[in-house]
Order: sequence, then C-alpha cells, then structure tokens
Amino acid sequence: MTAKELLKVIKEQEIRLIDIRFCDFLGTWQHTTIPSHQFTEDFFEEGLGFDGSSIRGWQAINNSDMILLPDASTAFIDPFMDIPTMVVSCNVFDPISKERYSRDPRNIALKAINYLKGTGIADTSYFGPEAEFFVFDNIQYSSGKNEGFYFIDSDEGDWNSGRDEGNNLGYKVRPKEGYFPCQPTDTLANLRGEMVLKMEELGLIIENSHHEVATGGQCEIDMKFSPMVEMADMLMKYKYVVKNVARQYGKTATFMPKPLYGDNGSGMHCHQSLWKDGKPLFAGDSYAGLSEMGLYYIGGIIKHAKAIAAFTNPGTNSYKRLVPGFEAPVSLAYSSRNRSASIRIPMYSASPKAKRIEVRFPDPTCNPYLAFTVMLLAGLDGIQNKIDPGEPMDKNLYDLDPIELSAIPQMPASLGEALDALEKDHEFLLKGDVFTEDVISSWIEWKREEITAVNSRPHPHEFFLYYDA
Ligand code: GLN
Ligand code: MG
Ligand code: MG
Ligand code: MG
Repeated sequence: MTAKELLKVIKEQEIRLIDIRFCDFLGTWQHTTIPSHQFTEDFFEEGLGFDGSSIRGWQAINNSDMILLPDASTAFIDPFMDIPTMVVSCNVFDPISKERYSRDPRNIALKAINYLKGTGIADTSYFGPEAEFFVFDNIQYSSGKNEGFYFIDSDEGDWNSGRDEGNNLGYKVRPKEGYFPCQPTDTLANLRGEMVLKMEELGLIIENSHHEVATGGQCEIDMKFSPMVEMADMLMKYKYVVKNVARQYGKTATFMPKPLYGDNGSGMHCHQSLWKDGKPLFAGDSYAGLSEMGLYYIGGIIKHAKAIAAFTNPGTNSYKRLVPGFEAPVSLAYSSRNRSASIRIPMYSASPKAKRIEVRFPDPTCNPYLAFTVMLLAGLDGIQNKIDPGEPMDKNLYDLDPIELSAIPQMPASLGEALDALEKDHEFLLKGDVFTEDVISSWIEWKREEITAVNSRPHPHEFFLYYDA
C-alpha cells in the first residue's frame, strides 16, 4: 500500500486514531497515537518527533530528538482497539542529518538486504520462523499470584512434586508430553484458533498451529515464509496478537525461552534460503539435496554461531534452554532430519523450491530484524569465503561420549560467552555498513548490564541450596 492508498482507506473506513509504532533496539514494539486528522500527506515527509533517550539502548539525553517516518506498506487495523485504529510502523530518522538511525533495527535489516543485492549472490533472503511460546493462567487479579513469573522447580520424572497445578483433573500432562494430544488434554485449542484468525486478519499467512511438547501450555503457530524484512514485520504482529489474545482470555503469554525447569523451552527455529531471479539457490545435489552454496551458508553460520548467538539468543535465560535433552541444540553441527543438531535440512519435500536450512538455536526473545540480519550476514560470509561446514552429524548429539563431543564446536554456555565471542568476531557484520561498531558495542554494553543485574540478585534455587545451611 502507498501513502495515498492508505490515506484513502483511513477515510473510507472512518479510522479515528493512528497508532504510530516502531521496534526498539531490544525487539519490543513501542507506540504513540495521533488522531487521524493529523495523519496527512505531509506527515509522511515530516513525521513525528519523540524522545530517543527514553528508549532502551538508544540516544543520550543531550542528543535525544528523533523522528518517526511511517511506512505505509506496514499498516493494519488494530483488532484489539475499541476505537477504529490504524497501526503504522515507522522507520527512525535523525532530525539533523535526516539520515536513517543506525540503531534502528528495521534500518539495519533494510541495509542488509541492500547489501545482499549488491553482492550479486542473491536478490531475496526468505525466512520462515517457528516461534514457540507459553500461555500461563493469569491469576494475579484473583490471588495476587502471577503464574507467568512463578518459579517452578521439578526434576524430570518427578513431575508431581514441584508444581502447584491445582486438582488433578485426569488430564495432567507429564513433562515433554504436550505434543499433539487432542482436547481436553490440549486446553488451548480455542485460544490458538482465535490467535490464528486474528493473525490472518492482519495479513499473516498461517500454515499450522499446535500445542508444543512442553506441558503447561506451550504453543506454536507457523507462518508461511516471506522475504526477510517483511517477515520481521510480521513477527512483530505475531507477538502482538499472541499477547493480546492471551490477555483477552484472562491469560498471559511469554516468549521467554526457558520458563519451566525440566521441560522443553521455547525456540524460534528459522528456516532460510536465498533466491535469485525467482530461482532457489540452496537446491542441488550435495548432502541432503543442498547446493554447494547452501553448504557454504551453513559453514558461515557454524563459524560465527557463538558471536551471532548474542543476537539470536539474547538473554541470560536463553542459555537455560540450550541444554541437552529438550530438542534444543547444543552442538554446532548440521544434519538432515536430526533435531539434536543446530542446523537441520528438512526432508519433507523433494521440490527444489522447498529446499532450505533450518537454524534451530535462535529463540523468540530475539529482535527479529537483528537476528535475521546476523544469520544472513554469517551465511553470506560463508558463501563469499567458501567456508566448509565439515561433515554432517546424523546421530543423536545428546548421546555423544566426551571424546566425540570435544571434536564438535558447541553453542555458548551463557550470554557472557556469546558477548565475548561477538566482541572478537564481528567484522562480517560491518560489511556494507549494515552494523556499525557503535551498534555492536552498545548491544554488548546493554547486555552485559543485564548479566550483572541477574547475577547480583538472589536466585530462588539458592534458597533451596543454602537457606538451611
Ligand atoms: N521446543 C524445542 C526448542 O526449544 C523445539 C521443539 C520442536 O519444535 N520440535 O527448540
Ligand atoms: Mg515447528
Ligand atoms: Mg516447535
Ligand atoms: Mg522446526
């Protein structure tokens, strides 16, 4: 949709409010609202000013004026507002230089696509993320207890002991057995259905929705793949719908990667492929039907995985998911059909158009603009430098003995390790000025503060270990 077309729709549909949105540095939507009469053709030139110093990780207080300029192609009518409201996502600009802001994640992703086209390797980078999330009962209003923040500590196999789940209604699911039983065991079918319908109203194309493996309300809704920036835009809508429908049902949704100890965490596997002139570039006759280019792309992801994890797995909690035994990857290996490997090559379809790789380590707390961009740039580096991904690993990587394991590179064990790796290894992110040194160092600084904040607080399990010592 162009600006003119959007203004026409706003008039025709009698839209009263325009909700101006942008994605902040860490990946959360922020908004400010104007009456629709303020939203004119001029607005697309002049934009809206805001205080960039009050947005996490952005401007200093003495340099805080920033401008939001709308992108009409992102507009949708907000299904959660009682007053007719059009949401429009914006790009962030510096009012003095008139340039796009270097720490605006959407700008970083747009630059990456320009860089991709400039290399001549491909013109399109497709992404298909599978975001998983938990839906918890939000009972904070009745009893003051919010289960979304409720610490649960039960050992695997000891599923009756640690969790306060109320009465046993006969449908209690054991840890890791939430994947696929019907209602009434799956208590969230209606709620997910509502999410799917709302997502489709917003233009997302949904392929599938299901309960996931973890008990306690883990869900997944899958979108059809799209070009990278459009997909990141869609993921913002996706999260908005998930959280707001949960709220309407008196529940709360979280994308936190490991809310429950002893059960599966939430990942966001990212299917990806490169195309040029309408042709898929990852299909070929090498391993698992991949092209040489597809293998080099994997080589780049594996080489830079420890560094890009700082964006794809951006929280201290992210690394509690990346442990053996929960379908989340630990070893940096690739394989067809193997769900313990970091990179899987799906074999569902023999069509070259379906040939893609699935990177399994990211989690849905990442900023999608930044996470997609760092994976694309790592993969491109692999192609440009012909990085060999090594031999595929088709066995269960959770069962390897220590000697076998020591031969395979591992994911970082903590956010701190990932940030140290990013500090040393980020040249490939600076190509085409996609990232700047300033963006990298601000990210590292912000994230190190998160680590300090977490480490300096008493942990609930410390009470278990030390309280009566
Ligand atoms: N929840 C698993 C993860 O953390 C994935 C499970 C699946 O989709 N097969 O990545
Ligand atoms: Mg899936
Ligand atoms: Mg899944
Ligand atoms: Mg998957």
